[in-house]
Parts: sequence; C-alpha cells; structure tokens
Amino acid sequence: MGEANTYSETQRQIQQAVRDFARREVAHGAEERDRTSRFDGALLRRLGDMGVPGMLFPEEFGGSGADALSFCLALEELSAVDMSLALTLWVGIQGAQSMIHGGDDQLAAWSDTYIAPTVRGEMVGAGGITEPDAGSDTAAIKTRARLDGDEWVIDGGKIFISNAGLDICGFAMVLCRTDDGYGIIIVPNGTPGYTMGPPLRKMGLRSSDTRELFFDGCRVPSWHLLGGSGSGRQAIVGGGFHITRIYLASQAIGLARECLDVALAHAKRRVAFKRPLARFQHVQAMLVDMALEGEAARLLRDEACRLHEARQPYAKHAAMAKLFATEMAKRAADGAVQIFGGLGYMDETPVSRYYRDIRATTIAEGTSEIQKHIIAREIGCFE
Ligand SMILES: Cc1cc2nc3c(=O)[nH]c(=O)nc-3n(C[C@H](O)[C@H](O)[C@H](O)COP(=O)(O)OP(=O)(O)OC[C@H]3O[C@@H](n4cnc5c(N)ncnc54)[C@H](O)[C@@H]3O)c2cc1C
Repeated sequence: MGEANTYSETQRQIQQAVRDFARREVAHGAEERDRTSRFDGALLRRLGDMGVPGMLFPEEFGGSGADALSFCLALEELSAVDMSLALTLWVGIQGAQSMIHGGDDQLAAWSDTYIAPTVRGEMVGAGGITEPDAGSDTAAIKTRARLDGDEWVIDGGKIFISNAGLDICGFAMVLCRTDDGYGIIIVPNGTPGYTMGPPLRKMGLRSSDTRELFFDGCRVPSWHLLGGSGSGRQAIVGGGFHITRIYLASQAIGLARECLDVALAHAKRRVAFKRPLARFQHVQAMLVDMALEGEAARLLRDEACRLHEARQPYAKHAAMAKLFATEMAKRAADGAVQIFGGLGYMDETPVSRYYRDIRATTIAEGTSEIQKHIIAREIGCFE
C-alpha cells in the first residue's frame, strides 16, 4: 500500500524507526507468543528505550509531547506484526495519562510510582469499565464505590479487562457507581479485596492479557478518585473513548496494510493455470479493494487526528474512523486468507493469526453498531 506523503518529517522518522524495530525485534516472535499466549515485557521496555510509551506525555513527565497522529503511526507499525503488543501498549498508558491531569496530592504520589515507569515502558495500567451485565450500555454498571471515612470501599466486578493480570501491571482504573453518579478510581494491583480470575482464553490477541476482576470490600484512599465524583462515566464515554477509538482504528489500518502486502506477494509468487494469481481479475479485485479501503481508512483516521490536535469536536470522525477501519481490516484479513487458499487456513502463515486478531476490533472500544449510533447522533438523527 502506498505511503501517505503528507506526514511531517518527524512523523515519518517515527514511523520508520518503529517499523524497523517491529520488523527486526517484534515480528519473529509473534507467532510463538500467540501460540503460548505469552506477553513479552522486554519488548515494551525496548519501546520505552525508544520513547514510544512516553510519546503523548509532556516533557516534564519524561515524555516527548508528540501529536496523536505520530503515536498512531507507531501503533500501525507495531500492529502490522503484533496486534497484541500494540493493544497492550496503548491500553497500558491510559491510566498514567489520566493521572497527569490529577491534583497535587495525586501527582506527588503517582509521578514516580506509576507515571515515570509507564513512560519508560516498565509498567502498564488497566482500564475496567465492562461488566458481565454492562458492555455497550456502560450506564448499567453495578460496581459500587461508597465513601467510608477517608476511604472508598469498592464492591463488584469487571470482565474482559486487558492488561490487569500482567506482572508489570501497576493498577486498574475502575469505573464505579458513587452516591452522586459515576467515578473512576485507581486501584493498585495487590490491594486487599481486589482479585482477578485466570487469563480468559481468546480467539485471537492471545499474547495480550484479558481477565475478569473482582472487588470485595476493596479499600483505597479517597484521593484515588480521578477527576472528581459524578463525572467519571462522562470522562470516558464523553471523551476518553474518542481518542482510544482512533488508536484501535490505527491498529486495524496497520494490520490491513500487512494483509495486503503479504497477499500481494503471495499472489505474485503462486502460480495456477500457468499464471501468477495476481493476473486473475477476481484476485486483483480483492487486492484492489484492500488497497482502496485501506487508503480511505487512513484518510479518515488522519482527519480525526487533525481535528483532535486542533481541539475541535472529533467524536464523529473518531467513530467513523473506528467503524470503517476495523470493518475494512476484517475484510482485508478475510481476503488475505482467501488469496492464500488452504495455506491461509493453516497456522504456518501469519494470515490465520491476522484473521483471528482483527475480529476483536469491531467489538472492543464500542462495537460497530455503537459507532453507527454515535454517527447517527452526530449527524442529527435524534434532533
Ligand atoms: C479483546 C478485548 C479486549 C477488551 N478489553 C477491555 C478493557 O480493557 N476494558 C474494558 O472495560 N472492556 C474491555 N473489553 C470489552 C469491550 O469493551 C466490550 O466487549 C464491548 O464494549 C461490547 O460489550 P459486550 O461485550 O457486553 O457486548 P453487548 O453490549 O452485550 O453487545 C452485544 C451485541 O449487541 C449489540 N448492541 C448492544 N447495544 C446496542 C444498541 N444500542 N444498538 C445496536 N446494537 C447494540 C452490540 O453491537 C453487539 O453486537 C474488551 C473486549 C475485547 C473483545
């Protein structure tokens, strides 16, 4: 797929550096990590050495204050070879990023313990929103936090939570019901009353950690509440999700590009009826759709990033980018399997992993149906 040439010099340098790293150090172990459902923290630390987890953090926190598009380009490159690593990375920085907007007491306590290690790629956080009876409908969560003196007491549970069980996970951001609405509370790993189930067995994204979390009389100090009580759900649903949707769109764009690249190479190599597959129009049509839709997804994602950087409303573009990119990548992975034929169904080629990995992206961070609902609202269907 042709590279967009409108990116700045800095963005292209980041893209190239992460691409080189991904090809050199990430790609070769991805199949084994998938087969053994194992996350390799050393890769995240190497990304930390390169400054990738800290890209979106201000310089005073050890970051480089890069723009969202630069980070998205890095995610694309990682996702092209290992979707699980890219997912762990962007999910892992969300908590520390929220903390930098915290009060003085929070910054004093968390700068060295959570923010700095996250920037260095030595720690990740988890974000607990989904519950067994509340997924798309986040307002239906039941996990409850009540104030008892100067402590929150949390009871309830979360499901499908990424990162929480990794040995490098420091804490979970937990969306709770409070007396005056919803709140997001930081719960350090190891806090009594906070336990988790074994890793969930998944169709794909197998080297990313996904678990069920349990809170039973779990107590944390009252100042662990992020951004004030009452507003917690709005902070996520009304803002935080927009940018993470763009991250997931970027993951899909990266994987779809890889699907096109490997499918095209195979179509040129593989001969049937005395011709390379790439000479058959029906095969060309699949490859053309992959190229066309991949480019369209990239343009939507880039525009969403530009609006975000310009501090303009970008909910509609974020939802459009997420919806289009993830559905597009699902088609691209399907096309790659088809072009590889029987080989595409075997685990000897990476395309079977791509096909499994991409399936989660039209579900996580708001399903495709929920993105359509957001777009319908943004274009005025409910007015
Ligand atoms: C790999 C993976 C990682 C995840 N990581 C995390 C994480 O770190 N933290 C976290 O909190 N959650 C995480 N999730 C959970 C994810 O956010 C939810 O699965 C998602 O929000 C959908 O919720 P649900 O599974 O309960 O599906 P449901 O909400 O039950 O939806 C089921 C179906 O009904 C449709 N539907 C629901 N409501 C509507 C509607 N109003 N209109 C039309 N259709 C509708 C949906 O689109 C979907 O097709 C993860 C999920 C996956 C697969």
